[in-house]
Amino acid sequence: MNKPIDVADLDSGPLYVARKKIYPQSVSGTFRNVKWALMAFCLGVYYLLPFVRWDRGPNAPHQAVLVDFPNRRFYFFFIELWPQEVYYFTGLLIIAAMALFLMNAIGGRIWCGYLCPQTVWTDLFYAVERRIEGDRRARIYKDQHGLTVRRAFELAAKHGIWLFIAWWTGGAWVLYFADAPTLVTELATGEAPFVAYVWIGILTLTTYSLAGFMREQVCVYMCPWPRIQAALTDEWALNVAYRHDRGEPRTSTRKAEQLRAKGLPAGDCIDCHQCVAVCPTGVDIRDGSQLGCIQCGLCIDACDSVMRKIGRPPRLIGYDTEINLERRIQGKPPIYRILGPRTVIYAAVIAITGAIMSYTLLTRVSLHISVLHDRNPLFVSLTDGSIRNAHTVHVLNHRNESRTVRLEVDGISSPQVQVVGLEAATAGIPLISVGPDQTRELRGLITVPPAMKLDRSTPLTFRITDVADGETAIATDHFVIR
Ligand code: SF4
Ligand code: SF4
Repeated sequence: MNKPIDVADLDSGPLYVARKKIYPQSVSGTFRNVKWALMAFCLGVYYLLPFVRWDRGPNAPHQAVLVDFPNRRFYFFFIELWPQEVYYFTGLLIIAAMALFLMNAIGGRIWCGYLCPQTVWTDLFYAVERRIEGDRRARIYKDQHGLTVRRAFELAAKHGIWLFIAWWTGGAWVLYFADAPTLVTELATGEAPFVAYVWIGILTLTTYSLAGFMREQVCVYMCPWPRIQAALTDEWALNVAYRHDRGEPRTSTRKAEQLRAKGLPAGDCIDCHQCVAVCPTGVDIRDGSQLGCIQCGLCIDACDSVMRKIGRPPRLIGYDTEINLERRIQGKPPIYRILGPRTVIYAAVIAITGAIMSYTLLTRVSLHISVLHDRNPLFVSLTDGSIRNAHTVHVLNHRNESRTVRLEVDGISSPQVQVVGLEAATAGIPLISVGPDQTRELRGLITVPPAMKLDRSTPLTFRITDVADGETAIATDHFVIR
């Protein structure tokens, strides 16, 4: 339930409020453990993935995930994408967007609270800060008192470790764009390309400033996702929420016991502010759902531990829907609807896009041909009266092994097909060899005898066939006689 907005406050309030530094307190519990586990998983994947090897044969890189700009390839385990297949990225973007929407429809800002890089790295930087400077109270105390030798040492150690993590983060990023073990050696010996050092520098600075200093301000002021999410969410989505029906009226433990003994209403909230103290964005969730809440669940852990201490049931703060918050106030039992229209639509779009991408990946051909007719001259009359057309032919071999293909032309009966500078032919049919993962450009000459009657422009089909396995590819063009 949202706190009502006082119009008088809007009229008289300042237009700018300086940032109040936040000192999140450590907490333990279910959601904290989930966050630790996801942090370890995300960071582990990010830092180690470039070193995972994947055997693609002798003529291809052995790095499982690689963006190979010089050779214009993207490798992802068994998938290899060429520049002309960028539409797969469109499919991936659609799936990623729908997955975010689906998460939102089911569990609110799961992405923000657990998986977003800003959350993960900020959490890591907070862990370092806590380890060196102490928990919330100690950090507040140290910030309010002067610089001592010990304090200077702590600050130097904290910023040194932050910079090391930031540098490591930038270093891991560039490893996705070159063979990781080789690039590590080159970086260590100062022989890496200059652009690698530039990117490491940029990412070191951005990580250090975003996770070390800007922290919750990125979520509250810079990121568009909370605004988009506010438009997407509905009353059925699970969000971190304070149960007003149980918590109010707030009072102390002892007073609550006295009130209950007299049969008078007393809330479970003892106004201890533990839920606010652990919050990484400084939000008081008891004021209702708000943009600053990234829904990390840490206030649930904090409040659960308070409830355990005072002997009251847990989940005074918990994941709940707007509908249930209202129903509880009205004394009605909660209801849940995970499979609503939004969840079904998002899941269906993900499934359909995934199925289309899988089908096209599994059935895609590894052989391509493209043909371009000469513009000038369109045709040449030879001395014996026969007519010749010239075409530029590109043969693309997407496999990591050499292949030999037959070139045949349909559309005209018995044309003479020649390929300039070709090394082999069988029964007059040109044989073209193409190296592994290469494109070969050739000049094809099609000649028809003088007696042949043809239209001004006759459609032609150029067909290449792999002599080893029979895979074919075709391209169309025309034979022009005037
Ligand atoms: S931690 Fe629980 S009991 Fe303490 S103020 Fe927050 S909601 Fe109330
Ligand atoms: S209010 Fe609770 S769930 Fe929201 S950001 Fe703060 S600690 Fe996380």
